[in-house]
Amino acid sequence: MLVVGGGPTGLTLACDLARRGVRTHVVEAGDRLLPGSRGKSLQSRTLEAFDDLGVVEALTAAGSPFPPMQTWRDGERRGEWQLIRPDPEAPVSRHPRPWLVPQWRTQEILRDRLLDLGGTLECGARLTSLTQTDTEVTAEVTRSDGDRRRMSALYVVGADGSHSTVRESLGIVMKGEESGLRSAAVADVRVAGLDRDHWHIWPDPAGELLLCPLPGTTDFQLNAKITGAEFTATPETVRGLVAARTHLPSDAVTDVRWFSFYRPRTAMAERFRQGRVFLAGDAAHVHPPGGGQGLNIGVQDAYNLGWKLGQVIGRGAPDALLDSYEAERQAAAADTLDLSTRLYRAGRTPQDADEQARYRGRVCHLLSVHYRDSELSTDARKRRSPTGFQAGDRAPDLPCVTTEGSGRNLFELLRGPDFTLLAVNCAPPPEAAGLRIHQVTGGPLAQELGTGLFLIRPDQHIGLAADSPEHLGSYLARAGLRSAGR
Ligand SMILES: Cc1cc2nc3c(=O)[nH]c(=O)nc-3n(C[C@H](O)[C@H](O)[C@H](O)COP(=O)(O)OP(=O)(O)OC[C@H]3O[C@@H](n4cnc5c(N)ncnc54)[C@H](O)[C@@H]3O)c2cc1C
Repeated sequence: MLVVGGGPTGLTLACDLARRGVRTHVVEAGDRLLPGSRGKSLQSRTLEAFDDLGVVEALTAAGSPFPPMQTWRDGERRGEWQLIRPDPEAPVSRHPRPWLVPQWRTQEILRDRLLDLGGTLECGARLTSLTQTDTEVTAEVTRSDGDRRRMSALYVVGADGSHSTVRESLGIVMKGEESGLRSAAVADVRVAGLDRDHWHIWPDPAGELLLCPLPGTTDFQLNAKITGAEFTATPETVRGLVAARTHLPSDAVTDVRWFSFYRPRTAMAERFRQGRVFLAGDAAHVHPPGGGQGLNIGVQDAYNLGWKLGQVIGRGAPDALLDSYEAERQAAAADTLDLSTRLYRAGRTPQDADEQARYRGRVCHLLSVHYRDSELSTDARKRRSPTGFQAGDRAPDLPCVTTEGSGRNLFELLRGPDFTLLAVNCAPPPEAAGLRIHQVTGGPLAQELGTGLFLIRPDQHIGLAADSPEHLGSYLARAGLRSAGR
């Protein structure tokens, strides 16, 4: 399996494949992983996926909760407020709040996990062209020293960012380009004379400037909207922005460690799959950083695609299983594109802090993303769950009583690359290879789901909900699982 791009999407996917025993190689064009704190907010649903992939402890240690915002005017503090607040109505999650980690650090943690799991990462290796037949994909890779070689793989995933070579090689166009969003400068800077307990904001008619302390470092992430399309990001212009829009002098910026300038775009690839090649993350959709979704949605693409490729490559599931990737993730990406564009336009202003915090809290966690309309979601029950749960929803991470004992939440039972069948207040069916079965006899989980059989996919979404085992056999076959004795 070949993954193109060692960003958060490619590395997450590679970790998921490697833990399934799929031989996975990542080629990364850069001589090292991309620097910069860019996508610094890890949302609840991303933390759940990372928990399952075994990296959440390292990320917890590397990050922090988001600090309160601190507004400055005329060199004086003008009030503290919260941009991000927990949503009391959010689905229960063991990771209820977003976690602040610089993107470069998240990438390092994923890289280390990948190597532990036996996957390989080759830096300084750029995919330059791609051809495919019915049975394999051939990629030409050019190393930074000019050396070229061909690699063959059963499948290739292009996680090579917004200017994706994989996407271009396939001739897939991006739809829905939008102009009119303001450009922005982003940089990692060291600043003297500023506390690290706040996310500082200076409202300014030219565009607000923000400095967010980055945990595990002495850096701040600087964000500043820029009027007009042209701005040359250099250490001097970054210092100039600080001097022009804050009360700090330019030499308060003691170091500019990384900087960039971007023009936000909102666009989605018209297809996420062509034959044996897939697009994921920024290669498949690009949107402004409003609401901190960019990295997160790419990780969710990877978490959706990883188990499907694992079942097809390693367990003989029919190739059609892979079609559900585009169907499920295009819809999810479209929602996120709308959301992040709206939040980017709104900006971060103290005037309507309550409204913004409520809105962001409610939608940004990604816990409510569902696949109810997917062909992979079968709800064959006569009566739905009392609380409205349906096939396609993320399973509720609630405490449960099983025949093995009590005191565990569902996601502890789900951890790992396999499917799980819950028989809630009913008899479990015979065993099947690659399937864990738990008989749930009580607790909040049983109340939430109601009586029935619930087949939970490796990405924690409910695939099948049924009153009896009669639908189970055909569902398991589609997913590459076989009932015992077959
Ligand atoms: C300047 C900037 C600021 C941002 N700020 C935020 C933010 O504040 N909040 C937020 O949520 N998101 C932010 N983002 C977006 C976020 O960083 C991305 O959504 C996220 O990195 C997407 O991850 P990815 O793995 O899909 O792609 P990328 O992170 O772009 O990774 C793609 C990788 O593929 C490699 N690559 C490219 N071409 C090839 C090739 N031909 N062969 C091999 N490798 C290749 C690249 O070197 C790169 O390492 C920002 C992005 C940028 C550029």
